[in-house]
Amino acid sequence: MTTYSDIQLFIDGDWCDAADGRTLEIVDPATGQEIGRLAHAGKADLDRALAAVERGFKVWSETPAFTRYKLMRKAADLLRQRASDIAWLMTKEQGKPLGQSKGEVLAGADTIDWFAEEGRRTYGQVIPARAPGVVQMTIKVPVGPVAAFTPWNFPINQIVRKLSAAIATGCSIIVKAPEETPASPAELIRCFIDAGIPQGVVNLVYGVPAEISEYLIPHPVIRKISFTGSTPVGKQLAALAGQHMKRATMELGGHAPVLVFDDADVETAVKQISVHKYRNAGQVCVSPTRFLVQDKIADQFMEGFIAASKATKVGNGLEDGVDMGPLANERRIPALEGLINDAVDAGGTLATGGKRIGNQGYFFEPTVLTNVPTSARIMNEEPFGPVAVINRFSDADEAIAEANRLPFGLAAYAYTSSSETAQMLGAKVEAGMLTINHLGLALPEVPFGGIKDSGYGTEGGSEALDAYLDTRFVTQMR
Ligand code: NAD
Repeated sequence: MTTYSDIQLFIDGDWCDAADGRTLEIVDPATGQEIGRLAHAGKADLDRALAAVERGFKVWSETPAFTRYKLMRKAADLLRQRASDIAWLMTKEQGKPLGQSKGEVLAGADTIDWFAEEGRRTYGQVIPARAPGVVQMTIKVPVGPVAAFTPWNFPINQIVRKLSAAIATGCSIIVKAPEETPASPAELIRCFIDAGIPQGVVNLVYGVPAEISEYLIPHPVIRKISFTGSTPVGKQLAALAGQHMKRATMELGGHAPVLVFDDADVETAVKQISVHKYRNAGQVCVSPTRFLVQDKIADQFMEGFIAASKATKVGNGLEDGVDMGPLANERRIPALEGLINDAVDAGGTLATGGKRIGNQGYFFEPTVLTNVPTSARIMNEEPFGPVAVINRFSDADEAIAEANRLPFGLAAYAYTSSSETAQMLGAKVEAGMLTINHLGLALPEVPFGGIKDSGYGTEGGSEALDAYLDTRFVTQMR
């Protein structure tokens, strides 16, 4: 695939332009140049999508789970077959290195497969009755049409979790996909269409995010909201959903702590976590951010991490050997510069990086700040970029207090060779996900979600389906 085309909406079984013909530019973050135009949905388009998703729900909720499963498996196979072409589109519009894009597409196929299987197991219960002749049971039914809002950092992964859970349970869906990275999501949807998804079950729109969410969330047709994005926006949307008594899943910001203890295998820790830090240029909600390293190994860890940062090759994600692509959009550059300058003003040390690279495309240096006081903005706000802050600690209680200091509670990381310390961390670190001595997050079969200001609900593991199901109780006298 060597061309990037204009992108349309997909409503009621058809690819279409916006009713009023509105379009928006799509930019390659590696060059800053326009690479295509994107149809922008207005109210008329949303009304059509709402009518379609309502009809789609009637059809799909009555479709047997086994049929849904077979169609989803076919969509997953198509996604695998098309992975190379879709990865190219993703790198062109989002910037991440091609290998990471391909990994994301293939992981998307695994997610579809897993939810397809789980959709066959949405069991109810038969509950022993008090009275003779009574049969009482619970049944699980799809909650209804879903509105899903997803961001630009993982154009496929963020959608595929919501879409697969919705489709597997018999819900229909309107996906409001990211305007910055619209082509790879469109190709994901195309796999479902080509696999035979009935008209109206899946609809895809782009537009002004606030206009669309304010229209869809209160609309009576929509029964369930799922959002991934920043905590402030998530709180607004959750409030709106609450006002209209809509079920909601919120996957929001994080500020992941990394606790490295004196007894850790420092070499392995540096190797794993530095690669993880610069993956997708740090634009990841579970990206490791606040590094807390114990005194005895602090110098060794910092030295190793800084060297790994300097060795990270930044460039156009389509080129061979590139470890880190550009930031996905221009507004992240001043956002990062502001946080870094503030950290230095607050007394932190800029150990490496800190600047934009060149003036074409949105490239930024892998950056390490050390000894930054907790009063600095970066110690409290999600940097969402290739910036690591490394501070020291003396004892475990101090590290846990710092790890738990922020209102966020998404991912946390730790390295220690003591099983006692590991168990203690499992009990005490306030995070939705904790991974110790390896990187083991975000597989389809394990929970994925946060606590506190990082949101609620899970987008992985068997519980993820519950968010798309109502439990109904039926009792009957024979
Ligand atoms: P932003 O807050 O403007 O947007 C974040 C995402 O939310 C975007 O996809 C956007 O389209 C969407 N959004 C914004 N307002 C919305 C609304 N009213 N209704 C529906 N959707 C809305 O920020 P940004 O500049 O795009 O990204 C920077 C910040 O966003 C980061 O600091 C990070 O905290 C957060 N973010 C988080 C994730 C994640 O995976 N949790 C992904 C992308 C961005």
